[in-house]
Amino acid sequence: MMRTCRALLPRPGRRLRSGPGRLWDLPGDLQKTVSNFQNQLKENVTNLFKNPFFDEKRPPMQAEVVIAGGGVMGWSVAYWLKALEPRKNTLRVLVVERDTTYSRASTVLSVGGIRQQFSLPENIQMSRYSAYFLRTINEHLGVAGEPAIDIQFNPSGYLFLATEERAAMLEENVSIQRAEGSEVILLSPTQLKKKFPWLNTDGVALASYGLEDEGWFDPWSLLTAFRRKAISMGVHHCCGEVTSFTMAFYDTVTPTGEERTVSHIKYARIQMPDSLEYCQVACAIVVNAAGAWSRKLTEIAEVESSVSKTKQIFKLPVEPKKRYVYVWHSPDGPGLNCPMLIDTTGAYFRREGLGGNYVGGMSPAEDEEPDIQDLEVDHEFFQEKVWPKLAHRVPAFESLKVKGSWAGYYDYNTFDQNAVLGLHPTVLNMVFVTGFSGHGLQQSPAAGRAVAELILNKKFETINLSRFSADRFLSGEPVLERNIV
Ligand SMILES: Cc1cc2nc3c(=O)[nH]c(=O)nc-3n(C[C@H](O)[C@H](O)[C@H](O)COP(=O)(O)OP(=O)(O)OC[C@H]3O[C@@H](n4cnc5c(N)ncnc54)[C@H](O)[C@@H]3O)c2cc1C
Repeated sequence: MMRTCRALLPRPGRRLRSGPGRLWDLPGDLQKTVSNFQNQLKENVTNLFKNPFFDEKRPPMQAEVVIAGGGVMGWSVAYWLKALEPRKNTLRVLVVERDTTYSRASTVLSVGGIRQQFSLPENIQMSRYSAYFLRTINEHLGVAGEPAIDIQFNPSGYLFLATEERAAMLEENVSIQRAEGSEVILLSPTQLKKKFPWLNTDGVALASYGLEDEGWFDPWSLLTAFRRKAISMGVHHCCGEVTSFTMAFYDTVTPTGEERTVSHIKYARIQMPDSLEYCQVACAIVVNAAGAWSRKLTEIAEVESSVSKTKQIFKLPVEPKKRYVYVWHSPDGPGLNCPMLIDTTGAYFRREGLGGNYVGGMSPAEDEEPDIQDLEVDHEFFQEKVWPKLAHRVPAFESLKVKGSWAGYYDYNTFDQNAVLGLHPTVLNMVFVTGFSGHGLQQSPAAGRAVAELILNKKFETINLSRFSADRFLSGEPVLERNIV
């Protein structure tokens, strides 16, 4: 048997010759096996000589757009840049992600909710666009020959509960939402009790409930769908950390006659993983999609600027804030019609599957913000702060059993808890897409599109998001969102 095989198999490096005088006259199937074997052998031999420390995904030396951060925002921007580029296959886009396991990225640690119930028209419009995008996701992000995308969307309304004091504000929010086309209803305590008999309505004066385009989905599936599609469209990517920039400086006079030195990033320096090696990428635009770490990335550019010439230091008011999520089991808890409930106290929960499991949590008070050094979970916070509120609202939760927990970082905008979209005020080619403060996952399709429009056409086209520009931090005019969970 061994002899036969040897006799049949070609020696590596020698080709099967066809036509008269060929070396082996093999039947079709066998020829295919031999050729597969030959290819595999070639690959194995090549791998043998490959330096295991050489990362195949080194970045190109030049890219028109370098995106720092490969979370859902970074990949959404990358996808939209390729989808909207006017001359196809001309724009070179590079996504740089330092941790391809995404162990601390907000995207994969989020709760996956999408709602229409915001107080700012821009936020409602973004979520409405995202809901449309998610509904038709395969038309946008489907890749020929690859499995269809299933983001495991679970349609279910958000239920916001308001006390007497906040009822008028809730009503006002709902009228803004309706003006934007969202299907949201108001419910009195009696109507609430009828619809959700498991709910204790004590202290509730009014509630709003979404009838359409609200629910939750799997964040990982959305991230990987954006990534897969963008790569199929030619987006470059590498694992590494953007650690510094090479800057150029210009003196300019502002429209108000003020002399100013502005800067411009010429090269992004990327530290490759497990190595002392840096790669330098020449670029025209840097997109700051570093999420909770976007301020750090901004500071890198500003340190370079201040060391050299520019004295105006701009502080991006986005910082990591740790948020805990708890998973519990309660066999007698709310069933299939369980909404994403946002209590008057700020505690929230939703159903997780159909086996009596729930996920939820609560943002801590300002003076109780936990340390952000690690992602350890504070279990006492659940026992002392969250559980009593949940048990008051849903009596069945009195006997719940905590089954698990995790923590993640909000990319929290301390100025007004809203997105920062658009150009850095003094580093002229840095574009922000950050600061989403707990609602970024659902806004990623719309935000990525907006940033791509700004880069390609110098203006927002689908949704006017100019109020979210970083200029508001200089003018001191917050754009406040009232419905932050
Ligand atoms: C507990 C929790 C619950 C949430 N629930 C919801 C929800 O229900 N609905 C919703 O819409 N949103 C929710 N969010 C918010 C949402 O997850 C975020 O707003 C969104 O994921 C932000 O995406 P991102 O891509 O900007 O950030 P990330 O996913 O954090 O991605 C940023 C990436 O940048 C990388 N990076 C940073 N610095 C560098 C650098 N210098 N070089 C290279 N790479 C770098 C990081 O490694 C990271 O992977 C929640 C967040 C948390 C923490």
